[in-house]
Amino acid sequence: MKTIKTIFALSLFILGLSVFLAAAPVPDDPSLEAKAKDIHTRILSVDTHCDTPGNLLDPKWDIGVRHEPGSENGGQIDLPKMKEGCLDALFFGVFTGQGPLTPDAYAESRSKAMAQIDAINAMTVKYADLVGKATTPADAARLKKEGKRAAFIGLENGYPIGEDMSLVEVFARRGVRYITLCHTSDNQICDSGTDRRNPEDKGLSEFGRKVAAECNRLGIMIDVSHMSDRSFADVLKISKVPVIASHSCCRALCDNPRNLTDDMIKALAANGGVLQVCFFSSYLVSPPPNPERDAAFAALDVKYGSWSDMTADQRAAAIAEYRELHRKFPEPPARVKDVVDHIDHVIKLVGIDYVGIGTDFDGGGGVEDCSDVSQMFRVTMELLRRGYSESQISKIWGGNAFRVLQKVIDIAGAPSL
Ligand SMILES: [Zn+2]
Repeated sequence: MKTIKTIFALSLFILGLSVFLAAAPVPDDPSLEAKAKDIHTRILSVDTHCDTPGNLLDPKWDIGVRHEPGSENGGQIDLPKMKEGCLDALFFGVFTGQGPLTPDAYAESRSKAMAQIDAINAMTVKYADLVGKATTPADAARLKKEGKRAAFIGLENGYPIGEDMSLVEVFARRGVRYITLCHTSDNQICDSGTDRRNPEDKGLSEFGRKVAAECNRLGIMIDVSHMSDRSFADVLKISKVPVIASHSCCRALCDNPRNLTDDMIKALAANGGVLQVCFFSSYLVSPPPNPERDAAFAALDVKYGSWSDMTADQRAAAIAEYRELHRKFPEPPARVKDVVDHIDHVIKLVGIDYVGIGTDFDGGGGVEDCSDVSQMFRVTMELLRRGYSESQISKIWGGNAFRVLQKVIDIAGAPSL
């Protein structure tokens, strides 16, 4: 049975809403800020999820130019702001929304995915002095030494693979280093945690089992974010290597199907994987009860049904109506302290080695006092306030995610891809 919370989460995915358009003032603490920024000169930091490639496709938008925080269509990530925020490496999420499971629709989603990869490659050519393409942790370390940012690629939604297994290798050769097997709806690979059409959770499909094995073979991380609980369990049963949750939080702190339960986090740690805490407000803090809001969203949900069954016109109408409702009933704002509460929770549950950061900037992520990439050192300030050491901060900011990536590559033995 899908809950109202599922519906809210889904509407946010659909809209890619950034709830906070401008940072709220935060108390100055110049010495702590200086200490945090100093630590970032020595550690290698990575954010494992953003949806910035959508902006890269806009010919009027330029990632090499600094966009003022909160500016209209400015985006939450650009290269100057990455430097300001002390972020070294970023997984650019090549995202395709879930559509029908037909050969034509698979082909269309594939061309959309390839266009985004082309745009990422074009960025690394146009701004070769600022950013380089990366597929291994060593690439990120080398680029940092050269004073450049590292651009990794993740495929958010395995939909573009269609039913053609050979395409997993095609994407690997184009530099994809994780595949989020599904998005907000069930697909040909697995069931999603937020599909409203099918209350039954069928987990990984037969084809999905083969895709997971192929990811293992090729040195691609399997991303369990967005999956249903059964899909998650199925992947952990069959994956021979650690997996990543590129942008999810803890269900014990915020009851949302996009988050992992404590048992799932324990299973992920036993697998050697990593949970990358997301900056999505509705995954971080539960909204206070509001029956009027619940009823309004439920009515809209009934009106529009499944996203993947809509025509383009219906989607446009749904977006407009969902936006209006989000304006009318805004979510309670999460803050950096909420992000770090989720990090703390994972650490208390399973230890320091299984948690990191995946913001979902430009895809709906952003908290009140860290609303774009230029403010990411504020997470480090909060970690310092809570007594974390530099070596612990280094693991949280990138050591853990890169350990998983390296292990996946090593076991595959396919570093040349
Ligand atoms: Zn996502």
